[in-house]
This record gives sequence, structure tokens and C-alpha cells, in this order.
Amino acid sequence: MIEKTLSIIKPDVTRRNLTGKVNAMIESDGFRVVAQKRIKLTLKQAEKFYEVHANKPFYKDLCEFLSSESVVVQILEKENAIADYRRLMGATNPSNADKGTIRSEFAISIDQNSVHGSDSPEAAANEIAFFFSGIEIVG
Ligand code: ADP
Ligand code: MG
Repeated sequence: MIEKTLSIIKPDVTRRNLTGKVNAMIESDGFRVVAQKRIKLTLKQAEKFYEVHANKPFYKDLCEFLSSESVVVQILEKENAIADYRRLMGATNPSNADKGTIRSEFAISIDQNSVHGSDSPEAAANEIAFFFSGIEIVG
């Protein structure tokens, strides 16, 4: 089934001017970038986006990091996009990420791990609606 997933290229990547390199891995893995924008989140917006993690010890640092520099939010489309993008991202902790994954190539640490990807169809729908209106999604 063709699916859409929400990806965020995080501040450790935008800061180091590596956005294009991450996008090259995404496109060469068969994903179509059907919407994309570079934005700077406020702390409040980052807190809202990551509210599922509100009770975790790393929540404050996570939200401060996500709002520290610009991010690129994008919708990726492909057969099985949600699971396949999780695989291309690699493990949350880059020291456990398989070779050839985005996090293995670019992540600095578990905090600064380069990309976010939706983890379920429900999360994908919610996260896409959080950042994009229908008119911004092309194909
Ligand atoms: P993922 O981004 O792989 O879906 P989670 O949704 O579990 O991972 O966590 C969201 C983000 O919070 C992670 O990408 C990571 O940057 C951060 N994070 C997760 N677990 C930890 C941890 N134990 N210590 C510090 N940061 C963490
Ligand atoms: Mg997650």
C-alpha cells in the first residue's frame, strides 16, 4: 500500500549543512518528497509535537534541541513508507544503528540523532496534519 509518513530533518543536520545529503539518501531509497518546508519551531510547538514523551526524563532536552535551530519537515511517500523510513533512519541510539542508515551516517548522539519518522499510521496522520495543510501536499 502506498503510504505517507512525516519526517523531520533535525537541527544537528541543518546546523552542519547536511540537509541535501540526508535528502539524497531518502530519494535514492525510493521515497518521493511530496511536501517539504524549512521552519524554526518555538519551544511550545516542539513540546506539543513531542507531547507523547512528556513524562520521560529526556523530554525537556528533546524539546529544547528540536527548537534550537531550523528543521526541515517533510512528507515522504512510498509503498510501506512508515516502516521503510523507520528502517532507513536506523535505531534511536546511533551506536546501535545499522550501517547504511541515516543515523549511522550522520547522527551525533541519541539526543542529536538527525531525523524523526512517524512510527504508526495513526501517528503519521496526526503528525502530517500538525505541520501541513492539504493544499501544501502535492505528489
Ligand atoms: P525515535 O525518534 O527513534 O522514534 P523515540 O520516539 O523513542 O525515538 O524518542 C524521541 C526522541 O527522543 C529520539 O529520537 C531521541 O532523540 C530522544 N530520546 C529517546 N530516548 C532517549 C534517551 N534514553 N535519552 C535521550 N534522548 C532520548
Ligand atoms: Mg518516535
